Parts: sequence; C-alpha cells; structure tokens
Amino acid sequence: MHTQSKETQSSLTPAAALQILKDGNQRFVNNLKANRNLLQQVNETSAGQFPFATILSCIDSRTSAELIFDQGLGDIFSIRIAGNILNEDILGSMEFATKVVGTKIIVVLGHTKCGAIVGACNHVEMGNLTTLLNKIQPAIVEEKTITENRDGKNSAFVNRVTDIHVRLTIDRIRRESPIVAELEQQGDIKIIGGLYDVETGFVSFFE
Ligand SMILES: [Zn+2]
Repeated sequence: MHTQSKETQSSLTPAAALQILKDGNQRFVNNLKANRNLLQQVNETSAGQFPFATILSCIDSRTSAELIFDQGLGDIFSIRIAGNILNEDILGSMEFATKVVGTKIIVVLGHTKCGAIVGACNHVEMGNLTTLLNKIQPAIVEEKTITENRDGKNSAFVNRVTDIHVRLTIDRIRRESPIVAELEQQGDIKIIGGLYDVETGFVSFFE
C-alpha cells in the first residue's frame, strides 16, 4: 500500500477518497490488512504529509480511525473527542486539514454503544463532562419519534440520538465554517456521516 504523496492526494476526488475508506473498512471486517511497512512510512512522510481524509470520531478505544479503515501513517487527520462533538477548535482543525493540507473528505463518525451518547441521554452531570455532554443535547431535543423511556437504557432511543447527533454535527460544520462549506460547494471536498458498529466492525456511511 503506497504512502500518500502530493501527487496521489491532489489526483483524488472526494468520491475516490470515500472509496478508499470503504475498501479499508472492508479489509478490516474481513481481517485482511494491506501490506504496509510503517517504519518505511515514517521515512516516506518525514518531509511532509498528504493525508486524504479527516475523520471526527469518538475517543472510544474501539473506534481508532486508522485501524477500522486499515490506513497507515500520513493517511488520516484523526480528530477524536468523546461523543464526536464539535467545537470551534475542532472546526479550526477541519479548516486546517481541508483548506491548508488538502484532505478530500470529512467524515463525522458516530458509533454504537457510545458512552457519551448514553451519558447525554441520562443527563449525566460530572465535572467538565457536563459541558461536553451538553453539546449532544440538541440531538436529544431533535429526536421526536420515541415518547417513552427516553434514556440511556433504551437502545432504540440511544441509536436514534447517535444518528441525529452525526447529522446535526454535519449541519453545524456547514453553517459554522464558511471555509469548509465553500470547499464543499466547489466540489473540492465531501462531508459525510457514518456509523461504526462495535459488534461487527462495519462502518455504514450516510449516503
Ligand atoms: Zn463514544
């Protein structure tokens, strides 16, 4: 598997970048790994990096973007924070990753059985976590189909909130980052949501 270079990165379309991630996740769930020499990639990326994707995912120990998409060094800007929430520092990271470095796709990746989403559904308050979990509340407000047992024990409710949270996060990226929104409108990048299933290892993209 080749290391991304300026040439390979600039020749990729957003659709091709998405396909690389899909192919990588397919290898992951089939327990296949691309042949990759990480130490050689240290050398090949020492003078510069040309990653093709930016992935916002949870800190959950099961959702490491490089592993679940079978990628190597220099492939992915990995933004990780509990509950894959958004704030202005993360928006700034996305602007750097796309506008400055040229990644072709932004993935907002939620996952099943997310402790942060469950915590938000249970209205947990604890230290600095309270502020973080508050950023998931809009998805809970937006969930209107489930009328009973709207808490973290109801997996149907948690799954709905997880899905809505990803979609609202994408809406916010477009609204709160004119830089990223313009790149998307020009067709230079694609912003897409996805869900990682911790039971199967499979990522389903919201297409
Ligand atoms: Zn999580």
